[in-house]
Amino acid sequence: MGLKLFNTLSRSIQEFAPLDPAGKKVGMYCCGPTVYDFAHIGNWRTFVFADLVRRYLEFKGHAVTHVMNVTDVEDKIIKGIREAKTTLHEFTGKYEAAFFEDLKTLNCLEPHHKPRATEHIPEIISLIEKLLARGVAYKAADGSVYFSIEKYRGCGCNYGQLLKLNFDEMRAGERVKSDEYAKESVADFALWKSRAPEDGDVFWSSPFGEGRPGWHIECSAMSMKILGASFDLHLGGEDLIFPHHEDEIAQSEGATGKPFVKYWLHGAFLLVEGKKMSKSLGNFFTLRDLLAKGFTGREIRYLLLTAHYRETFNFTIEGLHGAKAALARIDECVAKLREIAGDANADEDNSFLQQFEDSLDDDLNVSGTWGKVFEWIRQVNRKIVADEHSVPYSVRATWAARQLATWNRMDSIFGVGLKSETTVPPEIQVLLEMREAARWAKAFKQADAIRGELKAKGWVIEDTPKGPKLKKI
Ligand SMILES: [Zn+2]
Repeated sequence: MGLKLFNTLSRSIQEFAPLDPAGKKVGMYCCGPTVYDFAHIGNWRTFVFADLVRRYLEFKGHAVTHVMNVTDVEDKIIKGIREAKTTLHEFTGKYEAAFFEDLKTLNCLEPHHKPRATEHIPEIISLIEKLLARGVAYKAADGSVYFSIEKYRGCGCNYGQLLKLNFDEMRAGERVKSDEYAKESVADFALWKSRAPEDGDVFWSSPFGEGRPGWHIECSAMSMKILGASFDLHLGGEDLIFPHHEDEIAQSEGATGKPFVKYWLHGAFLLVEGKKMSKSLGNFFTLRDLLAKGFTGREIRYLLLTAHYRETFNFTIEGLHGAKAALARIDECVAKLREIAGDANADEDNSFLQQFEDSLDDDLNVSGTWGKVFEWIRQVNRKIVADEHSVPYSVRATWAARQLATWNRMDSIFGVGLKSETTVPPEIQVLLEMREAARWAKAFKQADAIRGELKAKGWVIEDTPKGPKLKKI
């Protein structure tokens, strides 16, 4: 069975087949952060979802090129600069660095390309020129350039590929900004916004006059520059379907005449404690807020990965406590396997991995897959106990190594496993070695003092037949 995904474009579940005739290479674009603030947990749901898609495609043998843009010029950013009395790069640099730090905390793989909008102004300008040349964009009296939905549809193109649109009501609820008064139709959107006094120093020269790019055109220009006019996957939160993604399609197909993206994947909304996140309700959390409450990146990642991407997910503090308990069960099982396996090596259990893969092939059915993983853990735990005194050690070691290899393969997708070697900081390891040396020298008082020091730093020593092991309290 091959991977099946829900494509927003066809509104149906489809077999995934990359554009690459060899079926190997996959181009994947996920709309990245607008760097004017710290990303909140709803944003993180989308990025963890994108990471899952990438890791699973890699698991299935695809060579993925993962692109995630950084929107570093935008209305909210300009407002932020004005308020903070700082420069564009100083302002966005801080939030961009925080974003990538948080991405790492959540153990998301770093995208291969992280293009910034401000570094692609020439590409954006040339795309706008193409749209002007093809007659689907127009320059307004105020110097801004707009995309004309009417002219685009007049060429036989389809505006409304992701969403069925009622053109009479379209964008009626959207606030028309005062600097957009020159639009021919309320549905049209800005490709280039002419320089306004409140923009301060944030403007670029262009053949259409000084100004800055609209948000939608950034993604079209950067995705097509890196992945080509047509590529496989475009991801984002469902709030981006309209107008952002619809406009990306119109701009890209309007300029190239080629189909833009084969599969559109959208992650559903996230509620916090049953309600839409809002600062006034006190349920608005950035990743940093949750870390400050004592939760870890892997607990948050695990919780986000328990819900299917197309389901509205209710993120709760209770859920995070549940994540802690679930991860402890995994850790305990993996630790026991490591101890039994020792230096033994073995291949993965392919029959179990096949069940695991079948489950994820089904539109990334993570809840069903976790069910299989925990059933596997139950069976492994049972066998560890059952075999302890009845099976020769070498047989048990090979069996345990096989289970570990199986878990590591699964965790290459989930990314929630504890990396045993790297979790002990070097200074703690040094203390452990000093304590061992003291014991060898029969300086037991000193050895006990070091044990006490380790405990104060949050680590306990467990003496096992294979030597001392450190465990985090
Ligand atoms: Zn985008």
